[in-house]
Amino acid sequence: MIQRPWYRRKTSPASCREVGRVLQHYLDNEMDPDWAARVAEHLEACKDCGLEEETYREIKASLGRQKSGVNEDAVARLHEFGRSLTDG
Ligand SMILES: [Zn+2]
Repeated sequence: MIQRPWYRRKTSPASCREVGRVLQHYLDNEMDPDWAARVAEHLEACKDCGLEEETYREIKASLGRQKSGVNEDAVARLHEFGRSLTDG
């Protein structure tokens, strides 16, 4: 399990920014189940974050396949997405 200094238990749905921060941990199953459920809920409702999830999965899959190098398009899209969140 990871430390989650930014996370305090809330009842509201996860925000895009929160999801962006924890998505890697979510996909690695390193999250508190309650929090993971909120992320899953957000991913179903939010197209942007759903795409982000797909991108992470692509990267993980490509890492698994070739051990070296990642899908550069996917990484570029990921960085773009991260910027769009932090600029807001
Ligand atoms: Zn979102």
